[in-house]
Amino acid sequence: MGVMVCLKWGRELGLALIAALMLSACAGDMIPAGKRAQARKPSTPPRYGVNSAEFRQCAAKLSSLGARFTPLPDRSFGGGCTAYGAVQLDQINVPVQGLGVMTCPVAQNFAAWALYGVAPAARIYFGVELVRIDTFGTYNCRVIAGSSRLSEHGRANAIDISGFLLADGRRISVQNGWNGDAASQAFLRAVRTSACRRFRTVLSPDYNAAHHDHLHFDMGGRGGYCR
Ligand SMILES: [Zn+2]
Repeated sequence: MGVMVCLKWGRELGLALIAALMLSACAGDMIPAGKRAQARKPSTPPRYGVNSAEFRQCAAKLSSLGARFTPLPDRSFGGGCTAYGAVQLDQINVPVQGLGVMTCPVAQNFAAWALYGVAPAARIYFGVELVRIDTFGTYNCRVIAGSSRLSEHGRANAIDISGFLLADGRRISVQNGWNGDAASQAFLRAVRTSACRRFRTVLSPDYNAAHHDHLHFDMGGRGGYCR
């Protein structure tokens, strides 16, 4: 009934976009009140499942970046830990050590960061090609260090980057390079800046001692946190 009323309004307005917006608003209104309360927990941002339109859009973008990946069934692991709308990222433009399960938005931004942020920065600051990115992984069902809040790693919604291997054999680690030689310092800060344009939260050694040896990127929270 509600959908039909909305459709009629939409047609009379004659704008397909408005009709679509109204349809989605009306569909939301038709969820019984009890279910709606369950679906909207204010502390938890929306998590898009593997069958959602958001996931399909993300997967298309990930493909357009040249990535090879496998969509994974939505899973809940207990303790609030989940992997919704996640992929196994098999290949991007550069080899990556330690790639695990991650949400599609993390995979998409990571692939774009590697391609458009890290590879050019290696050429600019070291004059050589990037040959590998090393990570400390993605999914990990745990709380944030020093807090009781679930880490975005518990939602497969974060990735930790530990270092970079260059074509001349040099390895630039976050641990040694952050306060290392001038080129390493500049390179690591440049790739952090590039990550801040893509991920919602970026934490580096500048944030706290828990991040002295890696860069943390996630797609949780409100966004705009870059330190
Ligand atoms: Zn992390």
